[in-house]
Amino acid sequence: MTSTRLLPHLALSRRSHDRLGVRRSDDAWLAERWADPKTRVLVIRGNRMHAADGQPTWVSPADAPDGVRTLLGQHDGHTYFAVIVDDKETGPEWVGLRAVVANLLADPAHAPLVLHAIGLAEWHLVTKHCPRCGASLTPRAAGHELHCPDCGRTQFPRTDAAVIMAVVHGEPGTAEERILLARGAGWPEARFSTLAGFLEPGETLEDAVRREVDEEVGVRVGDVEFFGNQPWPLPASLMLGYIAHADDMTLHLDPDEIAEARWFTRAELAAAYDDGTLLRPFGVSISQSLVEAWLGAAIS
Ligand SMILES: [Zn+2]
Repeated sequence: MTSTRLLPHLALSRRSHDRLGVRRSDDAWLAERWADPKTRVLVIRGNRMHAADGQPTWVSPADAPDGVRTLLGQHDGHTYFAVIVDDKETGPEWVGLRAVVANLLADPAHAPLVLHAIGLAEWHLVTKHCPRCGASLTPRAAGHELHCPDCGRTQFPRTDAAVIMAVVHGEPGTAEERILLARGAGWPEARFSTLAGFLEPGETLEDAVRREVDEEVGVRVGDVEFFGNQPWPLPASLMLGYIAHADDMTLHLDPDEIAEARWFTRAELAAAYDDGTLLRPFGVSISQSLVEAWLGAAIS
C-alpha cells in the first residue's frame, strides 16, 4: 500500500441523506411529509439560499414561500425539502454556495442536503425551455425532472464531470517521491494547487487526467489511480480526484493557464506550508484531501 491511500477524506461526501427517489411522484406521501412540522425546508431564490451566521437557514414548511417544492430526502428522522423560487429579489442574507461552502463542514449532516438543493436550483435557473422545441418546461418528480408539454421530452438534472489530480513522480512512499503543484495564471504568489479540468465528450476520465496534465504542464502521465469524488455544484460539477503517475519531471507550461509549477518532496512541501512559502489549499476542496493523503499528514 502506498502513502497515497492515507487519509482519503473528502470533506463534502461524509454523511448523505436517503434521497427517496421512489417517493418523488407519490403526491399523498409528499403532502403528508410537508404537513409534518418537523420537516425542514431550505428556501432558494434563483441560486441563493437564506443564511445566518454563515450557515444555511432551514425553516418549517409553514414558513416557506410558494415555489418548486423539491424533495431532498430523509435524514435522522427528518424529511428535507427545498423550495426553489424563480426570483432574484435578494438582500445580503441571501447568499450563493461559495459564501457558505467552507462553513458546511461545521454541520456535516446538512452539507449533502445543501449541495443537492443548490445543484437542482442551478439547473432550474438555466433550464427554462425545452432544448428540442423551445417550449416552456414544467417541473415533475418533486423538482427532479422538467417536462416539455409540447414535444413530450423530459429533461434531467445535468452534472459536469471534472477531474482533479495529484501528479506524482518517483517510487511511491520514498523520500524522493515528488508531487507537482501549480499556480494558475493570475493567482497570488503563494497559491499552489493540484491541476484540474473538465471531461470532454467521448473521453474516459483517465484520459481526461492525462490530457489536462499534458495541456497544462506538458508532463506525460502513465498510470492513473482513482482517489475519490465529491459534488461541487458551482454550478454543476462532480469533482473526481485522481493520483496521476508521471513518466518524467520535465515541465512545458501553458502560460495562458499556468504561471508556475513546482515539484515538491514531502519534506519540501511540509516545510513550505510551515514557513508560509505556500498557502494551504481551500479547506473543503479535493485538492486539500489529495495533498494531505499524499503527504500523510493534515495541513490545515
Ligand atoms: Zn419540447
